[in-house]
Amino acid sequence: MELPFAESYKIKMVEPIHRSTREQREQWIKEAHYNLFNLKSSQVFIDLLTDSGTGAMSDKQWSEMMIGDESYAGASSYFKMKGAIKKILGFEYFLPTHQGRAAENVLFSVLVKEGDIVPGNSHFDTTKGHIEYRKAKAVDCTIDEAFDTTLLHPFKGNLDLNKLEKVLSSNPTDKIPFIIITVTCNSSGGQPVSLENMKEVRKLADKYNKMVVIDAARFAENAYFIKKREKACENMSIKQIVLEMFATADATTMSSKKDAIVNMGGFIGMRDEDLFRKASVFNIMFEGFITYGGMSGRDMNALAQGLDEGTEFDFLETRVEQVAYLGKRLRDFGIPIQEPAGGHAIFVDAKRFLPNLPKEEFIAQTLGVELYIEAGVRGVEIGTLLADRDPNTRLNRYPELEFLRLAIPRRVYTNNHMEYVAIALGNVFERRNEIKKGFKILYEAPIMRHFTVELEKL
Ligand SMILES: *Cc1c(COP(=O)(O)O)cnc(C)c1O
Repeated sequence: MELPFAESYKIKMVEPIHRSTREQREQWIKEAHYNLFNLKSSQVFIDLLTDSGTGAMSDKQWSEMMIGDESYAGASSYFKMKGAIKKILGFEYFLPTHQGRAAENVLFSVLVKEGDIVPGNSHFDTTKGHIEYRKAKAVDCTIDEAFDTTLLHPFKGNLDLNKLEKVLSSNPTDKIPFIIITVTCNSSGGQPVSLENMKEVRKLADKYNKMVVIDAARFAENAYFIKKREKACENMSIKQIVLEMFATADATTMSSKKDAIVNMGGFIGMRDEDLFRKASVFNIMFEGFITYGGMSGRDMNALAQGLDEGTEFDFLETRVEQVAYLGKRLRDFGIPIQEPAGGHAIFVDAKRFLPNLPKEEFIAQTLGVELYIEAGVRGVEIGTLLADRDPNTRLNRYPELEFLRLAIPRRVYTNNHMEYVAIALGNVFERRNEIKKGFKILYEAPIMRHFTVELEKL
């Protein structure tokens, strides 16, 4: 018999989690005004709200924590992180920041000005936020295939080169500071970008004399998909693929809370000394001195170690195949999801799950609340609440796709937990015709409303 798949690590430390009753959960979610962000973590049994900063560090990462150097300037931890970024990503210059959005803030302070246009594949929400905050525009050039959840395409994160070239050729050249490639593409379902596509984007960038910036949060998962799905790369190691991916870019912003498997941290990688000097000014202003930039020495040590572990094939296979396993089990129940399964999460297609619920009643949010009540599993809405209102008309923006995202923390849950989640959602699917009413908004903030919104059952 072929040997079954098994995790590439064993467990050294555990944290208890607790089940609750349906009655308790109905009470708690009501008190939370049906906003999953308002729940206490103790009220959640399996927490799939996000994979950001929720991973389990390894024994080696914890031992690195003990030898962190907390010197203000010139700490050995800074040089350890610098060495790891040079070796694994290939960037000569780097600046530490407290997390990914801080890296965006610092780098975009140098590069983005009012009236600019930043084309890319679906921009992450904080990335878009930092572009729009500077009165610039993010233009989505993702391939159309990404928006059909039933379609099997190996690289749904790819940029459409025709769309991209149209943006580059039809705008004044001083209006486009760079092209951004997000790997994997979170907003389209944790979908990868092929190495071939990244190289083609580089060619276009050279033709129009533009910089390429990689938004790198899940670069290692992206490299895993390249190895598995791109014929030309099947014999390359993950670390070789990673170097080739970043060779297509001039700079990178990184949220280390994802593929570097730390609970907090980020950085900017750069090739150009002049850009590094300019960014250093903003780093000192917003984050901290250039040799710690909002991070503790111990955290820089753990990050350096995490970059190495996070780009090992065995770890990535365990990681991505666990997500795929959950996807397979949901498919067994007939539950509609974004196909193929993403690298860090399963995106449940809420419109196809609850076809009779009107979009005005927040379809994906309704599904998220039902899953929580069913089993104490917390996902997150990627739909109308997140899409927010049009800044001009103040009308709700109804996105093409309404997702309930189930994000899997790294090295935290077992496949038994995945089984529990699948059966829980399977139960909701079985009684989906009884779900006839959604929610209306009682309170919402003027921007980023999904975090603090308060809802009432219809
Ligand atoms: C998480 C993330 C960010 C922002 O990083 P934070 O660490 O949450 O500030 C930016 N881009 C992508 C693709 C992300 O996933």
